[in-house]
Amino acid sequence: MARHPLDPPGEACGVFGIYSPRQRVSPLIYFGLSALQHRGQESAGIATSDGNLLTVHRDMGLVAQVFDEPSLAALDGHVGIGHTRYSTTGATVWENSQPVHRQIGDTSLALAHNGNLTNTAELAEGIDGLRSTSDSHVMAESIARAVEDGRSDARGLENAILEVIPTFEGAFCLVAMDQGRLIAARDSNGFRPLCLGELPDEEGYVVASETAALDLVGARYVREVEPGEVLVIDASGVRSFHPFPKTNPTFCVFEYVYFARPDTRIGGVSVHAARQRMGVRLAREHPAHADLVVPVPESGIPAAQGFSRQSGIPYGDGLVKNRYVGRTFIEPNQLIRDQGIRMKLNPIPENLVGRRVVLVDDSIVRGSTTRKLIRLVRSAGADEVHVRISSPPYRWPCFYGMDTGDRSTLIAANMEIDEIRDHIGADSIGYLSVDGLVESIGNGEGHCTACLTGEYPAPIPEDSDKLLLEKTR
Ligand code: AMP
Repeated sequence: MARHPLDPPGEACGVFGIYSPRQRVSPLIYFGLSALQHRGQESAGIATSDGNLLTVHRDMGLVAQVFDEPSLAALDGHVGIGHTRYSTTGATVWENSQPVHRQIGDTSLALAHNGNLTNTAELAEGIDGLRSTSDSHVMAESIARAVEDGRSDARGLENAILEVIPTFEGAFCLVAMDQGRLIAARDSNGFRPLCLGELPDEEGYVVASETAALDLVGARYVREVEPGEVLVIDASGVRSFHPFPKTNPTFCVFEYVYFARPDTRIGGVSVHAARQRMGVRLAREHPAHADLVVPVPESGIPAAQGFSRQSGIPYGDGLVKNRYVGRTFIEPNQLIRDQGIRMKLNPIPENLVGRRVVLVDDSIVRGSTTRKLIRLVRSAGADEVHVRISSPPYRWPCFYGMDTGDRSTLIAANMEIDEIRDHIGADSIGYLSVDGLVESIGNGEGHCTACLTGEYPAPIPEDSDKLLLEKTR
């Protein structure tokens, strides 16, 4: 499926895993994945096992499109994993949906991951007869070969994963399983989120990309899976391993800015509260003379609230989001294309007419949505539009699990700030500083700010086209 012209750039995936010996887990995985739908809308999949037989069901589409009662009923068992996918590498095709499955003698392996390996090509070169080069297939195949080569003992899959995983570079949060156990792993930088939860009444354990998914299945948050940690969860409980050399953690700041749900907590920090603090700081760094603070729903709402609180300028709705527009297979005709943005956002002229508006959003990546939005707000009668962005200019491509394209597509990599202001048609523009962002998150931990600063904390692929602009210069 081609990317829809109205779709924003891609985003990271969602993973979920559960071990619950006394119940069928497929309905719980379904609900967990629903809470992670925002992390990937291309495909969804679930694998479960009853201790003997491992079953996988996956397809293109949203969680609610891929699964219904009969398909969930066919997924039997007490251990399982699930995935929602938005491609960062590999095409948007069924073959690349997850969990991937690999039979290794008597062992069935299912695996799903969120992130992006940076040495996939190198790993793939070492594997004869590899059919797919998606990083999840490469991971599954590397693990399978380690099991086959007999490089592991009675613990089979578990030892193979512990042996092979240190050869994976880049960003990954992995959930894997065989017929009887759940394995979860996080790369040593801890780029993407992964947390551990416990089901009530000692019913078992859950791992998920975001705490919002724990809430949905009634699991209690236990802790983050640590960067570089591998958890093995089975009848004997949770065992923890640290097979990677120690690295300074560099968690993705963009999870706080845009990706994660506002009702998620990462490393003890409420994403919603962090976004409000970004808005407060933004108002200090870039004040505006205006009558109304208007968020771009929904990503700009908490920052707009913070901006309003700090500036004393009233907060008000000026744009309404159509909640029911997601991915569509229907190609828009020219008329719809011209109306474009209205399919997702429509203005409330009564609130905008004659007003000087501060329009708050979390980020500008390509600039095309923001430009259309400003036109829309002006066409609804706003006198002035002052754009305030609760993150710094997005200048560098991400190699760690986020598909925002190469440098030629990033507006801030190609224009100065006042050129951006003129291009998008704003009266003024202000971006939050890098320090302002990191201090607003405020948990004192190391962060990856590569997309904002170009400082990549882990090796990036040598043969990537993403730095196109650098090469052509
Ligand atoms: P644009 O003006 O085209 O760069 O689009 C900006 C909008 O895209 C903002 O509302 C952001 O919230 C949103 N956005 C930022 N990063 C992403 C991403 N990785 N995937 C989808 N949307 C994003």
